[in-house]
Amino acid sequence: MGMKSIRVGRLAGIPIGVQPLWIVIVALITWSLGAVYYPDLVDGIGPLAAYGLGLLSALLLFASILLHELGHAVVARRNGVEIEEIDLWLLGGVARMAGYPKTAAAELRFAIAGPAVTLLIAAIFAAIAAALPSSSPAALRALVDYQAFVNLAILVFNLLPAFPLDGGRVARALIWGRIGDVERATAIAASIGRGFGFGMIALGIAGTLLGAVGGIWLALIGLFVIAAAKAEERGLHVRVAFTGREAGRLMSSPAITIPADLNVAAAVENYFVRYRHTAFPVTGDDGLVGLVNLEAVGRVPAARRAETPVGQIAIDDPALVIDQHQDVAELLERPAFQRVGRAVVSAPGRELGIVSITDVNQVMRALDLASAA
Ligand SMILES: [Zn+2]
Repeated sequence: MGMKSIRVGRLAGIPIGVQPLWIVIVALITWSLGAVYYPDLVDGIGPLAAYGLGLLSALLLFASILLHELGHAVVARRNGVEIEEIDLWLLGGVARMAGYPKTAAAELRFAIAGPAVTLLIAAIFAAIAAALPSSSPAALRALVDYQAFVNLAILVFNLLPAFPLDGGRVARALIWGRIGDVERATAIAASIGRGFGFGMIALGIAGTLLGAVGGIWLALIGLFVIAAAKAEERGLHVRVAFTGREAGRLMSSPAITIPADLNVAAAVENYFVRYRHTAFPVTGDDGLVGLVNLEAVGRVPAARRAETPVGQIAIDDPALVIDQHQDVAELLERPAFQRVGRAVVSAPGRELGIVSITDVNQVMRALDLASAA
């Protein structure tokens, strides 16, 4: 999802983000529960209590989804994959990985961890519902029933074998384990996902024509599932193509570097405008200082650019300095590289090189042409 999420805090050291649309969803759930669900089930409930319970239910749902994603995150970590961020959006959450599971068994454990947490939450609420004495307040009963139901619904929906849903990952891991070829397994899982996507669109359109309110949503989800299947296939294709390819073979060298004491205004004129790259290595007396890109330049107020040395705004991130033997597939997974789009290849006593996302895309096009021939 391209939309920028809002950071709301950290859990177990993992940043938690919320897509702006999620807040709309919480409001919609609060509204529908407060206007219909609670008044239907609780005799004589006032609007304030009904909407209050609606909001509480929506927030409990939010917490359930967060726990589901934490389940994924904890298992990913145990398998050596870091989680960059947990993002809550329209359909639930996404634990964004920096890297990927290396074996079918690890992928299966990762994929199943979230649904396992959701199953546990649904079971706990169902057990509470069963244990509640008949004399307990109707509002409490309705609250517990809703959590049991909604977690069960999340579980069933998530297990549909369609990327980016967990069921798509489970399907891929199972096929991968059986045939031993992750790229073919992904292609098969993606085509199953596409089938589900088209099915959702057809059902959604039919539903809309018949007057069902949710039809348009189902069709949109179907479109999203088809796009996600494509992205999953593409991502893996690139990863496979660059595994075992070293940065030294891809880099442009010698890199055009900016001296650290040059001011930002001069750097814009003499480097960014002249060479039209989006980032340059910055070097001082002791060698590499960091990388400077257009975003870093943009953050310096125009009036201060003539007096600010480039060295002062260079990004000094060890993730962006690699040696020539660096595996490019692994580089592509680095969040810093995805953000900046360039990394410096540095070797003692040799001139600096640079690997850019543009180089990677060009190589990818050449490899695709070669394999299509
Ligand atoms: Zn999940």
